Amino acid sequence: MFEQLKPLAADPILGLASAYQLDQNSQKVDLGAGVYKDERGNTPIMAAVAQAQRQWLEQETTKAYSAPAGPEGFNQGMLALLLGEGHDALKTHRATSVQTPGGCGALRIAAGMLNRCREHPRIWVSTPTWANHIPLLGSAGLELVEYPYYDSTLHGIHFDAMMSALAQVAAGDLVLLHGCCHNPSGADLTPDQWQSLAAVFNHRGARPFIDIAYQGLGEGLQADAWGLRYLADSCPELVVAVSCSKNFGLYRERVGAAMVIAETPVLADTCRGQLLNVAREIYSMPPSYGGALVDIVLNNDELAQQWRSELMDVRQRIVNLRTAFVEQLNGAGAGGQFDYIRAEKGMFSFLGIAPEQVK
Ligand code: PLP
Repeated sequence: MFEQLKPLAADPILGLASAYQLDQNSQKVDLGAGVYKDERGNTPIMAAVAQAQRQWLEQETTKAYSAPAGPEGFNQGMLALLLGEGHDALKTHRATSVQTPGGCGALRIAAGMLNRCREHPRIWVSTPTWANHIPLLGSAGLELVEYPYYDSTLHGIHFDAMMSALAQVAAGDLVLLHGCCHNPSGADLTPDQWQSLAAVFNHRGARPFIDIAYQGLGEGLQADAWGLRYLADSCPELVVAVSCSKNFGLYRERVGAAMVIAETPVLADTCRGQLLNVAREIYSMPPSYGGALVDIVLNNDELAQQWRSELMDVRQRIVNLRTAFVEQLNGAGAGGQFDYIRAEKGMFSFLGIAPEQVK
């Protein structure tokens, strides 16, 4: 039977990582996947996370199946991190969260739930967007429609074009937005732009779906959640996919969360049940280890404080690297051509150079 299968080309991003491993050049630098590295090229385990690991080792007494939604301390901690402590949606029990295997798991089960909300659901995605959005959302049955986002001649968001495309969204359409540190452009929306988008969504009856995989790596934990919180305040319904891979450095532990804000506590509960049911059809329940570590870090004041400070160092190093990169390019005669990179956020930017120049 296997002869029916066609060999597939390697995933372009993961394929680049393998090519990097094989390359013998001692000067090599991996600019592929969004994985943070320190000055020695190492992706460190954060000290707060290492402490949580020690604690968990003492604490864990069984390897029996864990709760399908992950630990409640994890979910409540993550909701507070994303929405801010005491947010109205939390107080009124309209927000729900379930732990997932990474941000990918969150995107996939949220999309699966959305596919059950109506017939032929459509989701608008930015051009460009993170390549994996397409199969994750598409395989769940959502039809993808593109809206213009990054303009390589402007070196930024073409907001007018984005708005005129999104003026066409239909009632019930979903619009995928990157919460911060847009992947792959690094170009983020301003507060004014978030506000204009919320007005269009509400006017047209469309619903935002936020993918946030880099909270804390752009401007800070609060600032990076500004747009998400604005939409949570101003739109009746919101779907969120969160990743803990980058800001907790827990990439391989596969931990994230799918969240929903609904109009009533009953609807929030229904969404939770649907998310868990979709998960049951795919992987049943998330791995427990990463969720347990995040639960410990977020619910221990000292560890939470330490984690925030480590995350601040990561962010500051990224900002410093951006500045140093631009300055060195200018020193080498770039004449300000790459200055926009300094203002962009997170791990990505477009150099705007041709494939031949990349090589
Ligand atoms: N969303 C975006 C925009 C990402 O860049 C990533 C990872 O690179 C993810 C989601 C998913 O991350 P993970 O599944 O590794 O937690």
